[in-house]
Amino acid sequence: MRIIDTHAHYDDEAFDEDRGELLGKLLKEGGVELAVNMGASMYGADESAAYAEKYDYVYAGIGIHPDDVGVFEHAGISREEAAELTRKEIRDREGVDQGEAAEEGTDAAAESSIQIGRKYQEAIHFSSADDVMDHLIGMCRLPKTVTLGEIGLDYHWMVEPKEVQKKWFIRQLRLAAELGLPINVHSRDAAQDTFDTIKEHHSGTTGGIIHCYSGSAEMAQEYIRMGYYLGVGGVVTYKNSKVLKRVVSEIPLEYLVTETDSPYLAPTPLRGERNDSRNIRYVIEKIAELKEMDPEDCAEILRENARKVYRITEA
Ligand SMILES: [Zn+2]
Repeated sequence: MRIIDTHAHYDDEAFDEDRGELLGKLLKEGGVELAVNMGASMYGADESAAYAEKYDYVYAGIGIHPDDVGVFEHAGISREEAAELTRKEIRDREGVDQGEAAEEGTDAAAESSIQIGRKYQEAIHFSSADDVMDHLIGMCRLPKTVTLGEIGLDYHWMVEPKEVQKKWFIRQLRLAAELGLPINVHSRDAAQDTFDTIKEHHSGTTGGIIHCYSGSAEMAQEYIRMGYYLGVGGVVTYKNSKVLKRVVSEIPLEYLVTETDSPYLAPTPLRGERNDSRNIRYVIEKIAELKEMDPEDCAEILRENARKVYRITEA
């Protein structure tokens, strides 16, 4: 079974121990034909570009995730200001995050304070928002950058206010259209705003993938009418993903692509473990089951779709 992963984060620290071995050998041996490493922060974008240069079958997504758009807002701050802003924001958010973390049973609070610190640390290295944009544009123009992403809206963590998230989402949507790159979109607890923003500022241009699609079947139909593909990953194998299963059953296979969001969202039976692109076979098997078709035939169509949306013609 030949696998394409349209969305992974091998720059995540979860891969610090064995990144070289995985990217250099194991993924390919496990049937992974292509993998797209998705930039989320500026660090992630830099790493994506580096992996794409080093590994023939790895491609890059370059973009700033809604949690990290603070790098635009704060570009030009000093080291001292960065430290102070980090401390202040962690203090302000403590109550909210601790509640959330207890609810989810995760160390989400710790994770989000790392994110807060990172955006300020990154902002030190740029003189202005335009400077950040120029750096991004440089990486978008590299030959193996196939998508502008991941970009979007995240109203779950709300690391930045809605208006700030929207502003930089729109700016990056326009950039994608200007540069002729398809988009890769992150949306959490923000389905309607994400849809409306894309419809107004991007539809009819370069297309792309709605990553880890979690909206309704009706909205999925609208997206495919506007020329977008839906990213399907480990969630489709989970018992409680009734809506997504309905979406996968109803939307023509020609509009679906596979992804992991590694290291997150490992499919059943590996749920909770560190994910990697090889595990997409479980996702393909589930899609094939929902479509009542042969998994190998299903895999072939899914890989054609991924190549088509990202316009990758090489072997
Ligand atoms: Zn992601």
